[in-house]
Amino acid sequence: MPIYEYHCNDCNTDFEQLVFSSSQADCVPCTKCGSTNVERKVSSIASAGSSAAASAGASYSSCGSSGFS
Ligand SMILES: [Zn+2]
Repeated sequence: MPIYEYHCNDCNTDFEQLVFSSSQADCVPCTKCGSTNVERKVSSIASAGSSAAASAGASYSSCGSSGFS
């Protein structure tokens, strides 16, 4: 299970979260303020030369706003 790094845009906190599935990865609330206005940072593992990992990350649906069309 990967650990992702996130940055909260509301309280400017960086945090790490253990994520069990790719869909959950984009629905992680800030551990400090609970906001879902967070950005998932590209991990050093994912960016280690695999373009497939980068495109997979881009294909994830965003949390809530437009994922249920
Ligand atoms: Zn926050």
